[in-house]
Amino acid sequence: MYDALIIGAGASGLQCALVLGSAIKAPYARDKRIGIVMHQKSSHLQSALLNNVLGIASQTSGKDILIAGKQQLTTNYPHVEQITSEKVIAVEDHQGGYKITTNKSSYHSKIVVIALGYTDLFSIKGLLEFVEPHALSPLEKNRIQLKNIQHKIKPGLYVAGTLAGWRSQFAIAAGSGAQVATDILTLWNGGKHTKVHDKLVTS
Ligand SMILES: Cc1cc2nc3c(=O)[nH]c(=O)nc-3n(C[C@H](O)[C@H](O)[C@H](O)COP(=O)(O)OP(=O)(O)OC[C@H]3O[C@@H](n4cnc5c(N)ncnc54)[C@H](O)[C@@H]3O)c2cc1C
Repeated sequence: MYDALIIGAGASGLQCALVLGSAIKAPYARDKRIGIVMHQKSSHLQSALLNNVLGIASQTSGKDILIAGKQQLTTNYPHVEQITSEKVIAVEDHQGGYKITTNKSSYHSKIVVIALGYTDLFSIKGLLEFVEPHALSPLEKNRIQLKNIQHKIKPGLYVAGTLAGWRSQFAIAAGSGAQVATDILTLWNGGKHTKVHDKLVTS
């Protein structure tokens, strides 16, 4: 049983995993089991070239960010379990939490973050009832979002990134993933608002 499982490893999913993983030293997060379904094949970053993202060198490809982001998670937060080569096909209510079914296996988690991007190829069982047209995209593009209030679909079920209804810019999607992570950390912290900051050590 996971405490939190992120589905999708593009801009929002990876950023969500990094912030959740970075809370490892906080007493409220120390014993939490965190995972991410590390599917990257259909991320919009696969075809992106990023020149306008703060802190990312010009001419960096989205593909490189996907590889580097996965490596950053492995190096800095190895306790975040990466589930590779699997595609999610269902997310369903199960005994107060969720059952996540992939093409190869199934998992249970108390909290699930859906970070699947806003492309209208959505056929995930258990989520279809929340699908609606993307409010901030041209209608003819057929983009979608999942009904949510401040990223929350219902207790324990969150959506992040473009699928949460945000416009498609890397910084916005990543920020949305970070916001969801801090919402989950706040929940684990008994409702007291929290975040994770590393500080320079001065001698
Ligand atoms: C051509 C192009 C150029 C761009 N250029 C810029 C730019 O210059 N500047 C900028 O700021 N932004 C740019 N973007 C936008 C940026 O790439 C997106 O805003 C960002 O990737 C959205 O992040 P996301 O997490 O919402 O979705 P994505 O990054 O698309 O991530 C969705 C993830 O879900 C996974 N997934 C999908 N289905 C499943 C499933 N069934 N099971 C498990 N996982 C699944 C995918 O593989 C993917 O990893 C560009 C996008 C494109 C397409």
